[in-house]
Amino acid sequence: RGRLEGKVAIVTGSGSGIGKAIAVRLAAEGAKIVVDYRGHKDEAEDTAQRITAAGSESILVAADVSKTADTTRLVDEAWQHFGNCDVLVNNAGIEIGADFWDVTEEDYDKVLDVNLKGAFFLAQAFVRKLRTAGKPGTIINISSVHEDMVFPHFATYCAAKGGMRMLMRDLAVELGPLGITVNNIAPGAISTPINQKMMSDPAKLDPLLRNIPLGRLGKPEEVAGVAAFLASDEAAYVTGSTYFIDGGLIRN
Ligand code: NAD
Repeated sequence: RGRLEGKVAIVTGSGSGIGKAIAVRLAAEGAKIVVDYRGHKDEAEDTAQRITAAGSESILVAADVSKTADTTRLVDEAWQHFGNCDVLVNNAGIEIGADFWDVTEEDYDKVLDVNLKGAFFLAQAFVRKLRTAGKPGTIINISSVHEDMVFPHFATYCAAKGGMRMLMRDLAVELGPLGITVNNIAPGAISTPINQKMMSDPAKLDPLLRNIPLGRLGKPEEVAGVAAFLASDEAAYVTGSTYFIDGGLIRN
């Protein structure tokens, strides 16, 4: 039996990249998965197929995490279908690069609303259900090394991920008495669609690699392994922490 047998997990933005790898890994360890996506239904269907191949089951829910009504519906659908939901992975995220003086209000809202507001209100909907049911649970936020490290020309992203750091710490304290744990996973440079453009430009990639002590990019599966640990009962006494999955980048 897998470590996550009997658990139900919502993974936001799980049609691609890190979210897809987490959804498939949690499923392989026995969890049933709510595959959240926005647009790109074909990618979400591919995740669902991989979950089936891994021996578990899933439902697909189209929900834009930046819309609070969608986050409530996402949690409702999870409970309606599976009768439970004890793991929330706030993975959906976007980044928009610009010099600080060129950042538009529209781009600010987009980046803050998906990364920070989405994680905030989805956690709220998730916790309300657990509170009513009197059950424990766990929240895992995929933040970034940039919750703690400057990313020049990505001020909105830094503000959002830095906000996720303090949100996680606050929730760990507020929700501890309910038996709900909250942690962040802070990936460094992981090869996924979000950064394909930068990763294929040697002028940007080479200096980055020189700053990574392990000397290579990370794989989505390497983030997923830590998510599976945090989702499992092995991490029952872990709350309020950030796990850096970055090949040592943050220490350099
Ligand atoms: P990705 O672009 O493949 O994944 C992001 C996913 O979020 C996509 O599937 C996208 O459709 C979804 N999404 C975007 N807006 C959404 C919304 N409003 N509602 C629902 N879903 C939405 O890139 P990724 O690298 O897999 O990113 C996953 C997370 O990891 C993000 O939060 C990102 O900030 C974080 N991260 C990635 C890296 C990296 O190097 N790849 C590093 C640090 C942090």
